[in-house]
Amino acid sequence: MLANYLYPIVCGFCGKVLEKGAICEKCKENIPYYGYSPTPFSRELCFDKLYCNYEYTGIVRKKMLDFKFEHQKYLCRTFAEGMICGLKNVRQDFDFILPVPVHRLRRKERGYNQSELIAKIVAKELKIPCQTKILLKSKANHKQSKLNMKQRASNVKGVFEVKNAEMIKGKRLLLIDDIFTTGATVNECSKVLKEAGAKEVVVYTVAKASINSHID
Ligand SMILES: [Zn+2]
Repeated sequence: MLANYLYPIVCGFCGKVLEKGAICEKCKENIPYYGYSPTPFSRELCFDKLYCNYEYTGIVRKKMLDFKFEHQKYLCRTFAEGMICGLKNVRQDFDFILPVPVHRLRRKERGYNQSELIAKIVAKELKIPCQTKILLKSKANHKQSKLNMKQRASNVKGVFEVKNAEMIKGKRLLLIDDIFTTGATVNECSKVLKEAGAKEVVVYTVAKASINSHID
């Protein structure tokens, strides 16, 4: 109780103090929520399934910007809670959960990897190991948000690498990221994971944006 008093748990969307959880009932009702949305795609894509929780708009967009650029780290609990609800409705039979990595210089600049914060909570709740040392971003690149669709795909080529590939051979992986726009980033991650022997890569992002959403 004392801990709760010092660090009250609030709804990440409206700020209401909560007894438990990180999204209040009203926000659960009012914010359009996909839960999960298995999306059909073209054969060029390397992941097997895509789930997204929200449309990248309104309060979701605002809170994601706070989370990524305003050091509002506590919001990871709210975004993770949405994913946990979604996964409980579909499947949890993954061998490992992996966050989309950021380059070490970007991480140093921001102080944290936002996708890793979410992935760790989801992993703990679902009792699936979270692996942060397998998929690495070894090359720094331009920010995706400034680029068009074609540039995004080439900007992420060759920037990710897999270490300890033997650990993921034949495994089912859940890859977690914050925003899905064109899918270039998660697709490139999935490609290297599959090349390293992963059996299945399912992508789950907090939000789905259109390329015109002005992500930053
Ligand atoms: Zn709320």
